[in-house]
Amino acid sequence: MTLPSLFISHGSPMIALTPTPAHEFLAGLAAALPVPRAILVVSAHWETASPALNAVAQNPTIHDFFGFPRALYQLRYPAPGDAALASAIAQRLTAAGFPAGLDTARGLDHGAWVPLLLAWPKADIPVLQLSVQSHLGPAHAHEIGRALAPLRDEGVLIIGSGSFTHDLRRFRGQPVDAPESPDVTEFCAWMHDALTRADSSALLDYRRLAPFAADEHPTEEHLLPLFTALAAGGGAGARRLHASTEHAILRMDAYGFGFPA
Ligand code: ZN
Repeated sequence: MTLPSLFISHGSPMIALTPTPAHEFLAGLAAALPVPRAILVVSAHWETASPALNAVAQNPTIHDFFGFPRALYQLRYPAPGDAALASAIAQRLTAAGFPAGLDTARGLDHGAWVPLLLAWPKADIPVLQLSVQSHLGPAHAHEIGRALAPLRDEGVLIIGSGSFTHDLRRFRGQPVDAPESPDVTEFCAWMHDALTRADSSALLDYRRLAPFAADEHPTEEHLLPLFTALAAGGGAGARRLHASTEHAILRMDAYGFGFPA
């Protein structure tokens, strides 16, 4: 069984409680996929100097956000971890030239558990996280994905979790259903075209080529998981699984890579 790799936009943590189109998409995601042996989430919310995997028996739920309603802090996603698989993936990355370490305490940040809570609510599939290295940019994230690709043949679902656009300077105070800002539309159209054409060289140079790139991503950590998912999926054309907008500036798009033709 070869699984696809996915990029999902996790949005605001409120997506866990608010029935937006992206919430509904994530709630239906598992039904469209085979049951994975494990899920490896590359989350924008875990940044480290070099790659790290969490290696725990049981994942603590990390409520790594501030100023949200109390109900969000009461949610838990008690998925098991898989320390042996974490160790094997770390060895695979190290052999590929990316020395990777293990974190034996860390659980799941909201980039992982919020979308998984919607998609696999039973929390019965082992979940691992892999950190991002935002200072090393898209090419590094892409190479990491290439090294992870064989895991798809071993029943591991690779999910890059970030945000298709992420200018949080304009986030607060916007209603969730506010009309999309035109610069967001333009940036996403460029990205979608390049993804559909599987133009990896353009995508890796998005910051210079895509309109409003530095506006939509003042920092890159929320887009980098896209490049990892792209390369993990084999670099062929992407399949758009979802597109919607929240708070005028957060595009909630999701893509799949490496689906059987
Ligand atoms: Zn985020």
